[in-house]
Amino acid sequence: MIYFDHNATTPLCEAARDAWLQSQETAWANPSAAYTAAVKAKAELRLARDQLARLLGVAADELVFTSGATEACNLWLESFFRNRHSEEKLLVSELDHSCVVETCKRLDEDAVCWFCPSSSVSIREMLDRESSKVERVGAVVMMAANNVTGEIFDWKGAAEWCRQRGIPFFCDTTQWLGKYGPEGLDKLDFFCGSAHKFGGPKGVGFLKLSRRHRSLCGQTGGGQEGGLRAGTEDLAGIRAMVAALNHYHQHCYEAGAIQARIEWKEAFKSNLRERISGVVDHERSPSVLWNTVSVSLPDKASDWWIQQLDRRGFSIAAGSACSTGDETVSRVISAMGMDPETAKRTIRLSAGWNTAKLDWQQLLDAIVGIYNGLIGQKQDASAEQSQVEVISLDDL
Ligand code: PLP
Repeated sequence: MIYFDHNATTPLCEAARDAWLQSQETAWANPSAAYTAAVKAKAELRLARDQLARLLGVAADELVFTSGATEACNLWLESFFRNRHSEEKLLVSELDHSCVVETCKRLDEDAVCWFCPSSSVSIREMLDRESSKVERVGAVVMMAANNVTGEIFDWKGAAEWCRQRGIPFFCDTTQWLGKYGPEGLDKLDFFCGSAHKFGGPKGVGFLKLSRRHRSLCGQTGGGQEGGLRAGTEDLAGIRAMVAALNHYHQHCYEAGAIQARIEWKEAFKSNLRERISGVVDHERSPSVLWNTVSVSLPDKASDWWIQQLDRRGFSIAAGSACSTGDETVSRVISAMGMDPETAKRTIRLSAGWNTAKLDWQQLLDAIVGIYNGLIGQKQDASAEQSQVEVISLDDL
C-alpha cells in the first residue's frame, strides 16, 4: 500500500513502538499506587511529562494528558463556556476541526462569533474587525494548520494580537506538531496535540494550559493530572507519544528535508495540471503544509477516486477522514467559497516523512491512467451511441 492519508492518521513509528513495549513490560503498574512498581511507573510518567515539555518548549506542569485532540478541545471549550462572563464572546475560526466547531454549537452558539481566516486579509485586521462587533472578547480559537486543505494560518500573529490585549488564545496545533519544529509554541496560552498524527499510538494526546488560566473543569473521578482529568494514565501510550514526537522533530531539523518534500509535492501538482485539464487546486495561500495537496478532479466524485486508487494500492482521502461516508460536501471547502459540484470532486493527498518522491510519481501515473481510461470509455460509449443513431436514421 502507498499511503497518502497522513493527516487522518500515521503509522506507528519504530521509536514509539519500542517505548510502548518497554513501558508495558517494565512500568505497567498503576502510577497512583504506593508500592515500588507503582512508584517506578509514577517516576516514568513524570519523566515523560518533562520530556514532552522540553520538546514543546513549555513547562511540565502546564501539560494535561488526554485521549487525543478531540478531548483536549472539548475540555478547554467546556471550561471556557462554564467560566465565561455573560457579555464575553468567543471568536472562533469556522475552518476549525469539527471537534471545535460542533462543540461550540453544542455548548452555546449564541456566545460564539465565527470568522473565516482569509489569505487576503491579515489575521490582525480580521481580529480587529471581528472583535469590534462584540462587547467583549473572552478568548480566540484558531487552528494552526487545516487538516483538509493543509493551509497554515498565521497563528503566531493571532497569538501576538491576543497577548497585546490580554485575551486568552487557544490554538489547535494537531496538524502542526511533528511536521514543523516547536518554535513559537511557547508563546501560546493553550494548545493541543494528538499522538497518532505524528507517529504515535491512537488514543493519547495532551492539552497545554497556561499557568494564568487554570480554572479547568475536566472529567471527575480520581485526582489524576492534578485533578484536571481523572482516569488512570495510559503511561505506555504517553511514553510512545513522547518518543514519536522526538523522532519526528529530528526530521523537521534535517537540512533541506522540508524543502525537498515541497518540491516533490509541487512537481506532482504541476504535472497533474499539465496531464489532466480542469484540475482545481484549493491552495489559496502561499503557506501550506509541506505534505498536503487538496484538489478537485474534473470528473467523478471523490468516493469514486478513493475506490479506484484503493484498487491500485493507494490510500487517499476525500476532505477529512472524519467526514468519510458522508455524502455532503466538506464544510471547510464550502466555507472557502467553492461551488458544491467542484467541492464533491475534492480529494486530499497527505504524505508522511517516509513518503518518497517516487510515491508521488506513481500516484500521479495512477490518477492519470484512471482518468484516461475514463475518458476512453466515454468516447467509446458516445461512438456506439452515434452508430445507433445512424442506423436509426437510416431506418426512417
Ligand atoms: N484537530 C485537528 C486539526 C485534526 O486534524 C484532528 C483529527 O483529524 C483533531 C483535532 C482530532 O484529533 P483526535 O483524533 O486526536 O481526536
